[in-house]
Amino acid sequence: MSETYLLRGASPLGAKPADVLVRDGHVAQIGGRPSARGATVVDAAGLVLLPGLVDLHTHLREPGREDAETVDSGTVAAAVGGYTAVCAMPNTLPAADTAGVVEQVYRLGQQYGRCDVQPIGAVTVGRGGTQLAELGAMADSAAGVRMFSDDGDCVSDAVLMRRALEYVKAFDGVIAQHAQEPRLTEGAQMNEGALSGVLGLRGWPAVAEEAIIARDVLLAEHVGSRVHICHVSTAGSVEILRWAKSKGYPVTAEVTPHHLLLTEDLVASYDPIYKVNPPLRTGEDVEALRAALADGTIDAVATDHAPHPVEDKECEWLAAAMGMTGLETALAVVQQAMVDTGLLDWAGVADRMSSRPARIGRLTGHGHDVEVGAPANLTLYDPAAPWEVDPAQSTSRSRNTPFAGRTLPGRVVATFLRGRATVLDGKPQ
Ligand SMILES: [Zn+2]
Repeated sequence: MSETYLLRGASPLGAKPADVLVRDGHVAQIGGRPSARGATVVDAAGLVLLPGLVDLHTHLREPGREDAETVDSGTVAAAVGGYTAVCAMPNTLPAADTAGVVEQVYRLGQQYGRCDVQPIGAVTVGRGGTQLAELGAMADSAAGVRMFSDDGDCVSDAVLMRRALEYVKAFDGVIAQHAQEPRLTEGAQMNEGALSGVLGLRGWPAVAEEAIIARDVLLAEHVGSRVHICHVSTAGSVEILRWAKSKGYPVTAEVTPHHLLLTEDLVASYDPIYKVNPPLRTGEDVEALRAALADGTIDAVATDHAPHPVEDKECEWLAAAMGMTGLETALAVVQQAMVDTGLLDWAGVADRMSSRPARIGRLTGHGHDVEVGAPANLTLYDPAAPWEVDPAQSTSRSRNTPFAGRTLPGRVVATFLRGRATVLDGKPQ
């Protein structure tokens, strides 16, 4: 059923307020005095109107770990966070390495209808790192996969990485690399440095990420095919990306909200809530990541939403799973790290959290400008609504947010998917 909304006094990308009419799944009018007849009126004074957010890196855990998350619960959390599309990582059980599994995930997303779910296919069979998966069959499937990743693990074999890049070139695909040299990070528990020595935890050295990024930007250029670097976490990685981009190499990159705000110092608590891969780094790394996101060296913010059940996180550090949830808090964390610091304006946020990720993932229905005629994939955000993060209130099935008890500066008020409200007054519809 078609719905009509009048967003009264909204600020598109933070610009001057205007009444915005949403009708028949599209943005029908901006400014002037649209008629409220038949429309649900939303008081949007003081609220920023953004294109619906697009996440390149979400773990929905279905099939196989429905105790942690499902397509159902994960897309509620995504909508509450302002997302209208998420790319689902393939480290499920079984791995999403065939047309059958990616189609299953894709159809579940359509069935629930809260957020478009674009599956990412595995690069190798079972994410085992030895044999290429059926990349072409996944591309040709109903899910139309364009992005492939063994995320959670690195495609560490250079020959396999080269072949994967060659294979996806034919259909404009992209390999999303989890850059982690496996031998250099065996048993790694946190960032390698003075603090890991003090705490007695095995270190994950920055060079293990940087070495793979350096190799892969060279391979991508050699093959003439696109590579995307997942969750960049070090200042050195930023320097390599800056160099590769200056040469025009076909590389894009993402950073997570938690790597923009949190540092390794938190690990001194031994609280596994801060255990994540790649690990939290130093304050200098955080500064470099913020600067790179601001100047466009890093293209996108991606959540790496990694839900885990309580028993996998509330245990001793060494036994705990790696990962943090992120869909519901991402926009507020980006506001705190990037907007309130003056590094990015709201147009910049729209670019890094919607337009560019949509382009990287080839999600043609998303990432449009907020303009008349565009599909009404929209997020209405209140940048002046501080709230304390309470994991018990989360719509995700999991509770492992590192922001529990912290006050974040703003909140999503409404999300629209093709003109239908998936969230209204902050509540899932
Ligand atoms: Zn990863």
